[in-house]
Amino acid sequence: MSIDKLEEEVEVLQDEMEALEENCDTLDLCKEEDGCSRCDAFRKMEEINAKIEELEEKIEELISAEEEE
Ligand SMILES: [Zn+2]
Repeated sequence: MSIDKLEEEVEVLQDEMEALEENCDTLDLCKEEDGCSRCDAFRKMEEINAKIEELEEKIEELISAEEEE
């Protein structure tokens, strides 16, 4: 997979994150203390965050592999 493709995916995920964050801010549950630890948006954000980190690792691997050539 190319770096461009991976970066594109990261951008898509970051957009999703922003949408979830906005959603999260509007939930009554999230205004409660620790509310976010029980909200769906927060759980999804954690999943997306993990995916973004994975993709960024791959991007870095690809970049350093390219530099070695
Ligand atoms: Zn929340």
